[in-house]
Amino acid sequence: MLLKSQRAAQALPAWLHAKSVAQVRAGWVDWTNRSASVSQSVIYSCPFVPAEWVAAHGLRPCRAAPERSACLPGRGLPEGLCAFAGQWLLELRRRQGRALAAVLTTVCDQMRRLGDLAEPECDLPVFVLHVPHTWQSPTARRIYADELRRLGRFLVRLGGREPSRSELADTIRRFDDARRELLGLRGNLSPRAFAQALADFAREPLDCDLQAVSVKSTIDNRQSSIPLALLGGPIMRGDEWIYDEVDELGGRIVLDVTETGELGLPGPIDRRRLAEDPLEELVTAYLDHIPHPFRRPNTEFYAFLARELVGRGVQGVLFRRYVWCDTWHGELARLREWAEKLVPGRPIPVVDLDCGQSGGDRGRILQRVQAMIETLQQTPGA
Ligand code: SF4
Repeated sequence: MLLKSQRAAQALPAWLHAKSVAQVRAGWVDWTNRSASVSQSVIYSCPFVPAEWVAAHGLRPCRAAPERSACLPGRGLPEGLCAFAGQWLLELRRRQGRALAAVLTTVCDQMRRLGDLAEPECDLPVFVLHVPHTWQSPTARRIYADELRRLGRFLVRLGGREPSRSELADTIRRFDDARRELLGLRGNLSPRAFAQALADFAREPLDCDLQAVSVKSTIDNRQSSIPLALLGGPIMRGDEWIYDEVDELGGRIVLDVTETGELGLPGPIDRRRLAEDPLEELVTAYLDHIPHPFRRPNTEFYAFLARELVGRGVQGVLFRRYVWCDTWHGELARLREWAEKLVPGRPIPVVDLDCGQSGGDRGRILQRVQAMIETLQQTPGA
């Protein structure tokens, strides 16, 4: 396991070779112990909120995944919210008095609506970050950068402090090191353990013990299992069974393109540009690189998928979406057509796993997964 991790470290550019993996881990623990000056967290759910921006302001970022078990119909949830957004409202209510503030974004109508509902419903300051849907123009970059500055002023009002340029650059670099380290561990962890490691890092990056993650080596590389991709909306706590059940059924999730998985990771940081303008580099890493399908055009989502599906030998896609989620639902038909033609002579099937509010659809979802795996097992050359 350590050898694999060392191989990952060797794949890093020259400026990182000076550091051993152990030094990155030790440095992270050391740095995080003295970083956040405020013990309460700023919670958020969206990958477009940069954790390092919150941390650089001396506060604790926490990308909280709500818990599925609390998602019960009739708990005062408005009609028409996707299960994730509904859960988030409950999470906000639960966090009152325990979190410093919440940050929501405008990546979908559901979250935008939650922004309207949250403040009157919860005794918690709420900041709504406007993320432009278009991303290729200087105007979109400027809007996103301005929004981050506005968020920065909000964080200062909460008790944070404005970071100097070098503090910001240092924080961004350390988060980038830690994420590279986590990604380097992917091949050593079971799909569930890797998803858990990403979730742990997102939830409490300042308390994440990278060393502890690396010793959870649980890989079981059964050659016979069917390589699959899990694609779609965020995974809630209590829904992680999907990783284990797919394993049990003879599949293996080799690519996790959910919003809580690899899809939600910012791009790698360019150290030269970071030194020149850290905020601009943060905009590049998030706005330009997170290939979320909500962006217009979302060609990068398909470019990312093409590269990763082919590179990891994926034979089938589990498309996991929440009912009421237009962002992912709207992509389904196009994705199916596209995946059929991606590899000549080897169509990649896409199975639709629509999840409701209650979580009571596990049996139905597993039946569909099982049917896909059995079909692929019987497909010659799949
Ligand atoms: S699952 Fe879809 S609708 Fe729900 S919060 Fe995410 S993008 Fe929005």
